[in-house]
Amino acid sequence: MSKYEIENIMEFFALPLGDLIYKAQKVHHQNFKTKEIQLASLLSIKTGACPEDCKYCPQSAHYNVELKKEKLIDLISLQNAVSKAKENGAQRFCMGAAWKKLRDGKDLEIVIEMIKIVKSYNLEACVTLGGITKNQATKLKNAGLDAYNHNIDTSPDFYKKIISTRTFDERLDTINNVSEAGLKVCSGGILGMGESWEDRAKMLKILAELKPQPESVPINALVPIKGTPLENNKMIDSFEIIRVIATARILLPKSRIRLSAGRKNFSKETQIICLMAGANSIFYGDNLLTTENNDMKEDKEIISIFSEKEPNIKREIKALKIENKSKKIVKDSNNLDKIGEIIRI
Ligand code: SF4
Repeated sequence: MSKYEIENIMEFFALPLGDLIYKAQKVHHQNFKTKEIQLASLLSIKTGACPEDCKYCPQSAHYNVELKKEKLIDLISLQNAVSKAKENGAQRFCMGAAWKKLRDGKDLEIVIEMIKIVKSYNLEACVTLGGITKNQATKLKNAGLDAYNHNIDTSPDFYKKIISTRTFDERLDTINNVSEAGLKVCSGGILGMGESWEDRAKMLKILAELKPQPESVPINALVPIKGTPLENNKMIDSFEIIRVIATARILLPKSRIRLSAGRKNFSKETQIICLMAGANSIFYGDNLLTTENNDMKEDKEIISIFSEKEPNIKREIKALKIENKSKKIVKDSNNLDKIGEIIRI
């Protein structure tokens, strides 16, 4: 049992924003170097034609979406993508395949080779491949995999309105298999699908009660895609995602909270407040599975505003220090002259 009940979690959500961020920052400072933002790169290794019917997803075969379907990519293309991500400063490389579940045999063997490639670049490796068994999870772990992503998406009740082709409990079974194989769990959710604050609280409570708590918690904002049943949903208000991130930080003190899909739709200011509220990872790179991601230059600027001293003010401080020092030297030399005069008298 978590020490937080649904009402307690909702009380956090409802706090004046400044108070909520202050509480989240205290937890963040106790558990992380607050300036450190992990850069994760996410690549779709097999795109589209997924048999699941997740209403938010352009990769589902159930919807008529403009999307270029792609088979499992080859190892050379994968290696190029990993090398580029490493060059751009990524610390974690995540690979996603639009599968219902991982199949033993050729698919599993290729994924194992892919994990080995990622590890050869000294990057953390994470995959999201649909449902997996404990035996498969163990094989992936033995190949060097660090973490497995399987989002719970939302609360169990709201989940039924979003996905009908698999149950919430099946999601939890995969998470359990991942955990039992000794892999780190990456699991989070999506905001803006029409869920209530209570649904969001229930989702965070379930994540907080996983044993151990997930190493990584991606918080996604729905990007409504034409052709999917949620195409007419509005983008979530930025203050709502900030409230969820801050509350997630309080409930999941040691988890990496990842500001994930939908970030492109938020202003620089919103993204920085998300980092102040406890998010400490962003997905970085040209694409996020099938949606366009933020500009890498702008990301670097955001991270530097958040984690480094402001360079122009720093320059002015330096100049002021030099000026004050020279004034002091002149003053001291005047004093020395005066002393000389006194001695001569
Ligand atoms: S399982 Fe993943 S890829 Fe398939 S429809 Fe759902 S979200 Fe999309």
